[in-house]
Amino acid sequence: MTLLRVENVDKSYGDEEVLNGVSFEMDRGDVDVLMGPSGSGKSTMLRCINRLTDVDSGHIWLDDTDVTAPETDVNELRQEVGMVFQDFNLFAHLTALENITLGLKRVRGMGKAEARDAAADHLDQVGLAAQADSYPAELSGGQQQRVGIARALAMEPKLLLFDEPTSALDPELVGEVVDVMADLAAGGMTMLVVSHEMGFARSAADDIHFLDNGRIVESGPPEQLFERPAHDRTETFLTGLQ
Ligand code: ADP
Ligand code: MG
Repeated sequence: MTLLRVENVDKSYGDEEVLNGVSFEMDRGDVDVLMGPSGSGKSTMLRCINRLTDVDSGHIWLDDTDVTAPETDVNELRQEVGMVFQDFNLFAHLTALENITLGLKRVRGMGKAEARDAAADHLDQVGLAAQADSYPAELSGGQQQRVGIARALAMEPKLLLFDEPTSALDPELVGEVVDVMADLAAGGMTMLVVSHEMGFARSAADDIHFLDNGRIVESGPPEQLFERPAHDRTETFLTGLQ
């Protein structure tokens, strides 16, 4: 069943067309990967889906909610669409656990004990039960990003967006984050991931969408895009990643 439907989305900043007629759909449980050169519009696409920015035209549907409608409650939407950022976006003065309980208390209205239990469960899910009381500065980048993922998961979103979740990490820390993402994918989480991690895309993606200059040049399962790309532009880009 379709969970996310992006329909003919256009978005400009000033004179620059950043998204140009972008359309794709995801079923519940799908893992789709957005790839494309820097500046091709990947982050903007994600930001339109949780209304960090607004489309100029077109529609985005999450179930039967028109995300793009002005009357849509953005705070409710952001509980349903979680986001994991490249630079983790953790609060430095809060522990790993407190980074997670904050939203549970403020946004989901949980009491202190309930929020602590839920946060502890989600830290356990990303393999960080022992780091609950550590501050971000005491954690490695990979651990910080796993806290970021646990924080997003704790809101029990219908859809998780990832914007280059491993790009800020030292190479030796990428694997632990990719492993957590692969676990989530295997567990049925619906995920839209901006990433150039070929291993993750190959093993976890249902579809890859290759974006260039604000347009989806080509979409398809990994074996099709990697082995038999229909467009030279896709082939050149993907060859450059290997
Ligand atoms: P990507 O994530 O693929 O690197 P982005 O979506 O971040 O691409 O950016 C696409 C284009 O839109 C870039 O040229 C960028 O400079 C421009 N852009 C992104 N956000 C803004 C903004 N808030 N104001 C003006 N231009 C922006
Ligand atoms: Mg980006």
